[in-house]
Parts: sequence; structure tokens; C-alpha cells
Amino acid sequence: MEGLMMTPQLRLPPFLERAERYFGDREVVTRLAGSIRRSSWREVGRRARRLASALDGLGLAPFDRVGVLAWNTHRYVELYFAVPGAQRVLHTLNLRLHADQLAWVAAHADDRVIFVDEALLPLLEAVAPKLPRVQAYVVLGDGPAPKTSLSPVLDYEQLVERGDPDFRFADGPETEAALLCYTSGTTGHPKGVLYSHRSLVHASLMMTTVDGFGIGERDTILVAVPLFHAAGWCMPYVGAAVGAKLVLPGPNLQPADVLGAIDAERVTFSAGVPTVWNGVAALAESTGRTLAPLERVICAGSAVPAALIGRYERLGVTVRQAWGMTEAPLGTMSCLKQTTRAETPSERHAVLARQGLPIPTSEVRIVDADGRVLPNDGKSAGELEIRGVNVARAYFGDERGDETLHDGWFPTGDVATIDAEGYLVIRDRTKDVIKSGGEWISSLELESLLASHPKVAEAAVIARPDEKWVERPLACVVARDGQSVSAEELRSFLAPKVARWWTPETYAFVAEIPKTSVGKFDKKRLRERLQRGELTIVRAEE
Ligand code: ADP
Repeated sequence: MEGLMMTPQLRLPPFLERAERYFGDREVVTRLAGSIRRSSWREVGRRARRLASALDGLGLAPFDRVGVLAWNTHRYVELYFAVPGAQRVLHTLNLRLHADQLAWVAAHADDRVIFVDEALLPLLEAVAPKLPRVQAYVVLGDGPAPKTSLSPVLDYEQLVERGDPDFRFADGPETEAALLCYTSGTTGHPKGVLYSHRSLVHASLMMTTVDGFGIGERDTILVAVPLFHAAGWCMPYVGAAVGAKLVLPGPNLQPADVLGAIDAERVTFSAGVPTVWNGVAALAESTGRTLAPLERVICAGSAVPAALIGRYERLGVTVRQAWGMTEAPLGTMSCLKQTTRAETPSERHAVLARQGLPIPTSEVRIVDADGRVLPNDGKSAGELEIRGVNVARAYFGDERGDETLHDGWFPTGDVATIDAEGYLVIRDRTKDVIKSGGEWISSLELESLLASHPKVAEAAVIARPDEKWVERPLACVVARDGQSVSAEELRSFLAPKVARWWTPETYAFVAEIPKTSVGKFDKKRLRERLQRGELTIVRAEE
């Protein structure tokens, strides 16, 4: 152990210490509806240190979980550093969960203290009776303490004020637990993923690489991804590591807020799920607004249609795609290798719409149902498996430990192909695959094609039971504002682009595609709506 402690360890606090020392004046801005709070890395450091010392006074044992139920603000950024810096585990609670699920997650994590945004008090009050082990609630807000049934209740600002400004962040092995995040549960019960200091430092550094997210000091980062989704894609850590300006958008981020923040704060970089960026592009196009000075956007969380990459190119912004999971943040990055032939814009966009290559220190492979490794021929489809430095080895509180791994590889639940050049393409989630006549159809590919139709705003494709073929694709389509599109139009648009038997013959025109708590298409809910007969199905005439 002594030898280990002499080797400098990969821990999170040095990121903040560097930001304070060299980029102390660089801003950390919170944009709320009625007010803008301008903080700085110096202030975040000062307050995080005081807060870390105050945690010692709350009766928490080392590595006890500290829950946070909050929107993206400077206070959340402070907690991202203070909690692991005080050798406790930051548990990022998903504020879009139903009360029952929230109670389940907080109890499963055994949260001992919960920090909560004033605006989210009613949600937490509803579940608090189910959380007898919570010792204290801390309210994040600006004004006087609000009325609440939570007890005992403390005030964040007072806690910070009373804290020790000379507190030194804890030292220890890099393998110590730092942050606990549950999957969003798109296809099942949420599962807890425990990150070490090492894995978060590693993922953050990968994001700063040019072929990663390419984030540097010159950047102003708009944190468009909720800080509760997959460790906030490490945005607070990356921002501090390089000394970038950070913009936190507060509650209920809408496309107009994104455009407003980009303009007012001179945002150059952002990251988020494709649905957010789809909405932003639509607003920019319909209002003729420019996205300057935004340069780059990283889209991840679900597949990025080639059409979206093209739309952003026309708006002067580079969109790159990352594939990742809560269990493997940043697994692959889209890219166009120098040796890959792609001449026209649409050829380039098609390559960039692939999920790309594993990041350095990760490996990917695909396996068949019997666990045999499949060839990289671009055709053989199987379950994607990944291994590497930042891939989880077990779930929190799961007694099976790393038995869930397959020969040391993490099975992702995604169906993919890998071609001879190494490009990975995610075809589907295993649970979303459409099995038609013994073969399968990629819902993601159909969605990506439908999204390139000029009259389509969004499209999700799900399986519809069929007597003859077992399942057939049903395309659920949202038309762009003021447009109407017919089943026949869509069918003849798809027909030349995919195999005949892939072309959906049925369509459901809907006002919107339901979204999960982190903004992905919620196909579980769409399937339920189909089962309950709530979707009006239109058959395209041949
Ligand atoms: P949940 O499984 O609850 O949605 P995650 O946010 O961890 O939680 O989701 C990981 C999953 O998201 C991946 O397994 C994959 O299905 C999907 N995903 C993430 N990034 C991409 C991408 N670039 N393209 C396609 N699918 C993606």
C-alpha cells in the first residue's frame, strides 16, 4: 500500500485545483429563467472545499452515498467535486423518474444524505417516507429556507458558509469509489454503476483528445446533458481539467434556451442526446437564426441520423457521435479515417453516422447467441461486447459481481456489425430488434432513413405482431411543423434504399414520439400504446 501511495494517483480533486490555480477567473455560469448566476472556478473550488469539510460534520461514514436531486447548476458542479473530495460517493438521482422508481433507487443506493433543489422538494417529499435511512436533507436554493415536510433539513448556503476554507481534499488510491449513477432504465429496472476516481479521470482525459471530444481551454461548454445522466458525461470534470468556461442551463432545457445560451455566453461546444439537437436544428432553421459561435456538438445516447450531421454542417457546426453506456461511458467515437474513401457530402455523413472506432484503451467485438466471436465483415450481426479501462465490472449491490461479464468482456445488449476497416455500426438494442420471417430488421437504420425525409421531424420504428412473418416494422412518424406526409410517400422514399422486405408497409402518424427520462425514444411506451390499440395504423397502398 505504501508503494502505491507514493505513486501519484488518478484522482478528481487535482482537476479542480488546477482550474482554481490557473483558470480561477474563468466563469461557471448558471442560467435560470429569471436570473443569471456568475461564478468562477476559483469560487467553485472555495465552496467545494468548504462543503467537503461540512460533509464530515453530517455523521457520514467514508464512502456513504450522498444523493443529489437537482437541475444543472453551479451548486451541482460543486457537489461533483466536494463529495468525492471528502471520500463520499456522489449519487446522481434522476429527477425524471416516477416517485416509486426514485424511492427504489435511493433506497437501493442506501443514500444517507440527499441534496435537493428547492424546485424539486415536492417530488422528494413524496418519497421521503420510504427512505428511513436518510439522516439529513440539504436544500439548494437562494432565498430563505422554504417550508418542507423533510426532516431534518439543512440549508446548502449555510453549510457552505460554515465549512472550513482550508479543508484539504482527501488522498487515497485511485480505485476508490467516487460516483454512483443508475442506468436510465430504457429497457428494464435501473442498475447502479459505481465509478472510481480513476475511471472518471480516464474518461475525462479521453474527452479532451482531438479525436475524442476535442475540448480545450478555449472552449465554452454548454452542459446540455443532465448531470444525472451517465455522470453528466463528465462535463464538470472535463471543464475543470482544461479550464474551460462552463454554462449550466438550469431546469427544463428547451431549444430556445439552447440558442439563447449559445448566443449570450458565446458557447463553442456542447453535448447531448440527438433529440435535443434535432429540436435545436429545427428552431434554428425555421427562424433563420445562426448557431455561431458554436463549433462542435457531441451527440450520444442514441443513434445519430446522417441527415442530422448534414443539417448541422449546413448550419456551420460539426456534429460527432459517441457511443456509450452508463456502464461504459465513451466506448466508441465516430470518425472518418484518412484511408476511408468518401467523396461526396452524403458519403461522408454516412460514414460519420456509424458509431466508429473504440477509443484508445477500449476494445470491441461482436458475438453470436452462443458467445462465439463473429467476423468483422460488415455483415455478421451479433451482440456488441466491450472491455477496457472505463468499463464497469459489476453492478452496485449485485451479488453476482463480475459474473455478468463474458470472459472478461461486458455484454452491452446492443446488436452491431463491425466492418473490415473496424467501423462499428449499432443496428439495434437486442430488445428492440424486429424479427421478420426468421431474419431481423434494424429499426435504427429505418429511423435514420426516415429522418432524412424533408417532411419528417422524428421517426421511431417498432415491431408489430404479424401472423405470417411473426413481426413486421411499424414506422411511427411525426411530421415537421405545418407539413403532412402520407404512408405511400414514405414507403416509396424508403423502397429504393433498403431491401424490399425491410420496407415498412404500415405507418402511424403521431403528434410526438414518447421520450425516456433522458430524452431517448421510449419504444417500450410506444409498444404499449400499440398493444392497447391507441395507435392509428395506416397501410401504404402498393
Ligand atoms: P439506458 O440503457 O437506460 O438507456 P444508457 O444511457 O446507459 O441507459 O444507454 C446506453 C445505450 O444507449 C446503449 O446500450 C445503446 O443502446 C444506446 N446508445 C448510446 N449511444 C448510442 C449511439 N451513438 N448510437 C446508438 N445507440 C446508442
